[in-house]
Amino acid sequence: MEKDNKTEAAILRKKAEDLLKLEPSETDSKFSHAEMRELIREFAVCQIGLESENKELLLAKEQAETERERTYREIFDASNDTLFVQDIVTGAILDVNKTGLKMYGYSDKQELLKCSIENISASEEGYNEEKIKEMNQKAIDSDYNLFEWRAKKKDGNVFWVQVSLKKVKIGGKNRILTSVHDITEQKSAEGILQDIIEKNPMSIQIVDTEGFTLKVNPAHTALFGSVPPPDFSIFNDFQLKQQGFGELIERIKNGEIVHFPDAYYNAHDLNPELPDVPVWILTVVFPLFDNYGKPERFVFMHKNITDRKLGEQELIIAKEHAEECDRLKSAFLANMSHEIRTPMNGILGFTDLLKGHNLTGEEQNKYIGIIEKSGARLLNIINDIIDISKIESGQMEVSITETNINGQIEYIYAFFKSEAEAKGMQINFQNTLPLNEAFIKTDREKFYSILTNLVKNAIKYTMSGTVEFGYNLKNNYLEFFVKDTGIGIAKDRLKAIFERFVQADIADRQALQGSGLGLAIAKAYIEMLGGTIWVESEEGIGSMFYFTIPYIPSRQVH
Ligand code: ADP
Repeated sequence: MEKDNKTEAAILRKKAEDLLKLEPSETDSKFSHAEMRELIREFAVCQIGLESENKELLLAKEQAETERERTYREIFDASNDTLFVQDIVTGAILDVNKTGLKMYGYSDKQELLKCSIENISASEEGYNEEKIKEMNQKAIDSDYNLFEWRAKKKDGNVFWVQVSLKKVKIGGKNRILTSVHDITEQKSAEGILQDIIEKNPMSIQIVDTEGFTLKVNPAHTALFGSVPPPDFSIFNDFQLKQQGFGELIERIKNGEIVHFPDAYYNAHDLNPELPDVPVWILTVVFPLFDNYGKPERFVFMHKNITDRKLGEQELIIAKEHAEECDRLKSAFLANMSHEIRTPMNGILGFTDLLKGHNLTGEEQNKYIGIIEKSGARLLNIINDIIDISKIESGQMEVSITETNINGQIEYIYAFFKSEAEAKGMQINFQNTLPLNEAFIKTDREKFYSILTNLVKNAIKYTMSGTVEFGYNLKNNYLEFFVKDTGIGIAKDRLKAIFERFVQADIADRQALQGSGLGLAIAKAYIEMLGGTIWVESEEGIGSMFYFTIPYIPSRQVH
């Protein structure tokens, strides 16, 4: 119909043009009046037809445009994300879709259109006009800008969104098309994950494919005392740590979950500037895969088992100590039976000899002397055993009395002088304090026993030379010394000699009599009196025993 009209119009037009080309006189001769009227009528009809057609066309065009507008609107509103159309110059919101109204909590579109972007942002958190301008400018400069943002609903609630700004032309005008995606859930999932890592009581260390640290949590820093240095690869470190760890590292790299055996670690060993924090750790490692199923990261979770490990070590030490005690006790019993049997045999043997009739007076005296000595030795041993038993069972009591230390030293000197001289040795003493200051409060019996023991040992373990003993006043303590030029003590035995029964444990000891309890008793007594004992010694040169007791003058001037 449209085509027919056009063709008809074209024919008419041709006719009209031909007619107009003719002179008026020619027209008169060619067309009658009736024909002319007919021609004019045809023109009029054709024009009406064209006009009405034109109207239809305009209507169709309008309809098409409305249709397009509706489609655009439907797409605009169907988006799950908020869409804003913004003025590129002022940033004003020109249009918003339905999702936008819902997301921002507005029911009246006009109300939202009156808002600026700052009004619907958490401006109080810094998401303000200045930042908005900066983001828009970026989008204008590079056509596109994607970023996270804190948006604000009408009721003031703030939420996380991801915003994409795109420079577009709408209706021939430059605009910014803003798309806003609500990422609250994603953010809260990220937050939970972050919390799981940050607040985990187990140490977490995330490393790359080479074992270099990407992230650690606070528990890791607390456990190891420092953040791993950038050049520290846990793979390399573990490989060196223990045999078999290299194989486990390979399994991790192949994507397996691996549980490591207990391992010792100290950052200080790697770098002396790092704190010296030795720890025992139990480690489990699991891989994180990329989209192609290839391990791209590894999570090391370490548990601090230092306490358990130390407990185990203490148990081992305690067990070894118990075994050592048991061994020493057995050796002590064997030694004791020898120590008791020797003087016992002496007593019985010489008592028997005394029964003989042909003994001279001199012989009788000699035998009686031996019996006496053996008896004394036996008594000594029995006393030591009783004392150590009392100490061990906590029955030994301290009895503080006034003690003249100068007097005690002189007495001990006089007691041992002949014995030392009989061995061809010299014995000297040194009393430092004047007599009136030498009266102190201590347990006299114990003090006497301690010093006697040390001097007796000094003489016993010295073949020639000098034994010297005395004291000095140092910081309210009396520091006693007993020095000899004897056989000395091996370095590795310096501590052991203060243990009970130790003599019997010294394999290559000189065959010198003694219970092996003397120093253990002395040490226990010194500690009861509030002091300490120690020794300095060199084999073949001599020994110097020291002990302290508090200097508590008894304030009696004599
Ligand atoms: P003992 O009865 O064997 O003398 P002690 O407890 O008094 O027992 O001494 C323990 C061990 O310490 C001795 O067996 C000896 O090996 C060593 N010892 C003690 N005093 C001296 C010393 N002055 N010189 C060398 N060794 C000593």
